[in-house]
Amino acid sequence: MVNTAALPTPRLRWTVVISTVILHVLALLALLPSNFSWGAIGVALGLHALTQGLGISLGFHRLASHRSLRVPLWLEHFFILLGTLAFQGGVYGWVGYHRLHHKHTDQELDPHSASKGFWWSHINWLMHTVPTHSQLPRMTQDIRDDKFYQFCHNHYIGLQVALGVLLYLAGGMPFLVWGVFVRLLISFHGTCFVNSACHQFGYRPTDTNDMSTNCWWVAVLTYGEGWHNNHHACQSSACFQKSWWEIDLVWQVIRLLRAVGLAEKVKVAS
Ligand SMILES: [Zn+2]
Ligand SMILES: [Zn+2]
Repeated sequence: MVNTAALPTPRLRWTVVISTVILHVLALLALLPSNFSWGAIGVALGLHALTQGLGISLGFHRLASHRSLRVPLWLEHFFILLGTLAFQGGVYGWVGYHRLHHKHTDQELDPHSASKGFWWSHINWLMHTVPTHSQLPRMTQDIRDDKFYQFCHNHYIGLQVALGVLLYLAGGMPFLVWGVFVRLLISFHGTCFVNSACHQFGYRPTDTNDMSTNCWWVAVLTYGEGWHNNHHACQSSACFQKSWWEIDLVWQVIRLLRAVGLAEKVKVAS
């Protein structure tokens, strides 16, 4: 039980503010014709599908945060590495904040409560020390002892730099600009829209005890995460799709993994 009256006032996290501004400025390099190539667009799309789709949506969210399925440890580590390369902070922070979001959805202790407005839930909460920050170790106890998780968490910046160097060596500035800066920007706002737009716009097939909504264009940006009201209605389910037209690409990947024997104990809402 947390005494909300005793919670510290959020302070600005300047390192996050500055690094977010730098990412947006670097992505503008894509406007220079010299940085354009179809190969670079292909690299960006491929890496986006791997890091946002398999890494964040499947690895960080459905696997690590909710344990909606089980996969062999080597495959789980591969998904966590991909999620780390989406550069949305260390895995412990991502999982811990997300579990806090489900525990206190749209209430005072939700790190990105939509009841504090669109801007707060989209990006502003990241720029501040949220009051529940100290609860992160307790919220992620089950994955704290895993050495590979620790490695990814501690080296997520170095891993991104290494990927950037490899892309630069492979295809020069176009690969670096599109494969890292533009991809990360789209990924970043995709996840932010799940927290903001999917608690403000769209429709609510289930009358959940929060503001969550289904938002088709966020589902497109995030390979199915935008069916967020479906997710809040049954957070342990690996499938976010309720109607046939609510396409959840990550769920199709999970079905494929299950069919070839690489996923088991797959939880699905009845
Ligand atoms: Zn939510
Ligand atoms: Zn969730």
